[in-house]
Amino acid sequence: MVELRDVTKRFGDNTVLDDLCMSVRPGRHVTLIGPSGSGKTTILRMLMTLERPDSGTIRVNGSTLYPAGEKERREARRKIGMVFQQFNLFPNMSVLRNITEAPVRALGLDRDEAEARALDLLDLVGLKDRRDARPNQLSGGQQQRVAIARALAMRPKVLLLDEVTSALDPELVAGVLDLLRSIATSTDITMLCVTHEMTFARDISDEVLMFDSGKVIESGAPEKIFSDPVHERTREFLGAVL
Ligand code: ADP
Ligand code: MG
Repeated sequence: MVELRDVTKRFGDNTVLDDLCMSVRPGRHVTLIGPSGSGKTTILRMLMTLERPDSGTIRVNGSTLYPAGEKERREARRKIGMVFQQFNLFPNMSVLRNITEAPVRALGLDRDEAEARALDLLDLVGLKDRRDARPNQLSGGQQQRVAIARALAMRPKVLLLDEVTSALDPELVAGVLDLLRSIATSTDITMLCVTHEMTFARDISDEVLMFDSGKVIESGAPEKIFSDPVHERTREFLGAVL
């Protein structure tokens, strides 16, 4: 479903990803862990076409993102949704409009259909009664649940989650993680998740990839990585976050 082959990404003379190879099969839930600055966000941003690799190939759902023409890239990009640490909702739009905007503009849905889809999703995330609120009238946890609904409204095949609970007050974290657990178990969406919530990672992941210095240094089932890591660097990292 997602395949990176020999992907290199530099910012100036900082090589952030160094001939990276990784692949995620359809429907799998993969968690990326590793120290700050190891390139996890950069991978997700390249999949969202917010950053461009310097070399290598990225494929999603059978289409090529890089290197590809604009049309094919847009096609591939449409299969991917992302939820950010800082929610990134449109502040001047209602909750409902936040969710309907992209399906109307990018998929060409008519507004009634987009609203019906949005209301189903608001029901799923437990916020149907806040459809007319503005983002700043909601708690962080509620905003993040709207952001999740907004991503799902595009019916993505792949959902990217970048530290989506890191900006939340501690008491709001569980609600968002429960929602993501239920999406993981009730849909066939492929999930790529960056998180420091190791219990959550252990619950939902089929596979954990440990990043360091632009490469995957260790990968495997969560039970294995969390309880018996091979690499000294993984041990150190887990020792610091667990
Ligand atoms: P992580 O998400 O694992 O913490 P990032 O992917 O955000 O890591 O960043 C990896 C490295 O790339 C860091 O050294 C960071 O400073 C650098 N970096 C990320 N984005 C940019 C950018 N737009 N310009 C310059 N350097 C960047
Ligand atoms: Mg990051």
